[in-house]
Amino acid sequence: MLRFTLNGCLKITSFFLYRFAYMIVQLILMLMLGWGVTTSDLPVSVYEVKLPDGSIEIRSQNKEFRPYTLEINWSVRNVATPQAKFFVVPALAKDYALTVIKPTAKAYSYSYHFTCIPGDIVGTKHNDSYTYAIPFKPGFKSKVSQGYNGSYSHNGIKAIDFVAPQGTPVCAAREGIVVEVVQHNKSGCASSKCMRLANFVKILHDDGSEALYSHLQYRGSLVSPGEKVTRGQVIAKSGNTGWTTNPHLHFEVLIPDYKGGKSIPTKFQMGNQLLALQKGDEID
Ligand SMILES: [Zn+2]
Repeated sequence: MLRFTLNGCLKITSFFLYRFAYMIVQLILMLMLGWGVTTSDLPVSVYEVKLPDGSIEIRSQNKEFRPYTLEINWSVRNVATPQAKFFVVPALAKDYALTVIKPTAKAYSYSYHFTCIPGDIVGTKHNDSYTYAIPFKPGFKSKVSQGYNGSYSHNGIKAIDFVAPQGTPVCAAREGIVVEVVQHNKSGCASSKCMRLANFVKILHDDGSEALYSHLQYRGSLVSPGEKVTRGQVIAKSGNTGWTTNPHLHFEVLIPDYKGGKSIPTKFQMGNQLLALQKGDEID
């Protein structure tokens, strides 16, 4: 079974039925993958290494600057293996050992399938006491055009839209590491059909949450994946790409979940005030 989840990760079922069948299974997998997908395209890969004592170590590799969570479901016969379901693969991990399969009889089998989820869904807990900076240079005047659960495009999400002319410098609201940049899109429209045309930057925070800065200008990113950014650093230029009716910045903080991230409420610092922003609020 081979299919992609919404977040682009591969959900794969591997069967390893006795040692002699290993090559056949590999061949089948290669044929399936040959339809246009190769494992090298995936952010996270899982593979096996036979150890000198006959056991099999399950290892993983992660190409991205963010951790990934693997949810693994096992089916085993005549092997001893830990029953762990979740494994967190650190950012940029190579040859990362997940677990060891130890045969307990000559005839044994094991199979597993996994789902990979961007981020650490096991250890992430948002620091609710953190106060975010307004994501613009001090003194920039803006207005909140849509707040949490806004009926236009924020149904069920806790995001803030800040009105901003195209080309406005966007600043990091919190320090972190850039984990994703999309900036090749050139257009936008007032329809959910344009949702996938948004340019954006995502920044990973030290508590495992990620901030999304979206609707950026074509080639409007000033940072690259892997780059550390400080609070207040200019990271991009705002724009009007994606699902949008007017030039603005969409800001949202997400913690990892099965659907690509769950947005959470954030407090902002404006002058000496701590604010939970809502539609109509003036920013300066
Ligand atoms: Zn928005």
